[in-house]
Amino acid sequence: MKQTIKPENENNSEPKKPESVNYHFTRLCNYKCGFCFHTQKTSFILPLERAIYGLKLLKEAGTRKINFAGGEPFTKANFLGELIKQCKENIKIEKVSVITNGSLVKRSFFEKFGKYIDVFGVSCDSFDAETNKKIGRGTKGDNVKKLFEIRELCKEYNIKFKLNTVVCSYNKDENMVENIKKLDPYRWKVFQVLLVKGENEGGDKLRDVTKFQITNEEFEQFKKRHEELRCMVAESNDNMKSSYLILDEYMRFLDKGDGEEIHSESILDVGVEKALEVIHYDKNEFIKRKGDYLFNDRDPCLKCEVKNEIVSDF
Ligand code: SF4
Repeated sequence: MKQTIKPENENNSEPKKPESVNYHFTRLCNYKCGFCFHTQKTSFILPLERAIYGLKLLKEAGTRKINFAGGEPFTKANFLGELIKQCKENIKIEKVSVITNGSLVKRSFFEKFGKYIDVFGVSCDSFDAETNKKIGRGTKGDNVKKLFEIRELCKEYNIKFKLNTVVCSYNKDENMVENIKKLDPYRWKVFQVLLVKGENEGGDKLRDVTKFQITNEEFEQFKKRHEELRCMVAESNDNMKSSYLILDEYMRFLDKGDGEEIHSESILDVGVEKALEVIHYDKNEFIKRKGDYLFNDRDPCLKCEVKNEIVSDF
């Protein structure tokens, strides 16, 4: 059931702050993952100045961490780089991260913009080329080789390296322990593949997630197989729904929780606070998946060098 966002303090006098926001500034992507839940429904992208203005509004509303996502953000690498630079140099958002499928990432991007990035996340759903093909993760190039190259670039530029894996029917039995150890991410997020109405439920939608879905038990088995990896942070469907603040390409907040996906008006038109009013954002789920450990020093990864960091992105 949809709910209006509630003020977070006990006196109900202050609106909740959008401390950590995922900005999906483009839906364009060079991959065709069969379970994708942020599909290429439009090719719209804001003019750079408008996007920067929106990021300033977020900062004024309390945003401390921004994660740039897509689609594939590196389909618009210069736009991405400029936003990252603006966030750090002018807008002064504390933490800046990006999540990418990795395929279009180049050394030159690190040379130009690496110093502005705190966390570099790469999605990796399998270490097997055939499985990646079945999922829709590119048919050209070697995803795994690229992943290791990016890992080295992150070391060279002193950027935290993060991995995301969506567990689905094609990779649920894979054992990734050795490869994850070699990659040594400071955080490995493991998601149960998610049905989002309006995006991937089949019919007239661009994706049909049904053949990728797994049971909660299968997800638990995958977690169990990898439990020795202390960097793993697993999120079931229940954890994921409504525990992320997602801005789309128009800078509208999206609610991908239960039921049909809904969106707010653009923060550029109505401001951040008003836009948030129509979105169900579940602070409890956010805390459950340790999205808040900037504030309470709960660090899910013993190897993480930096305590008190917001990590709450895809
Ligand atoms: S790489 Fe990401 S955005 Fe692109 S199709 Fe796959 S899940 Fe969707």
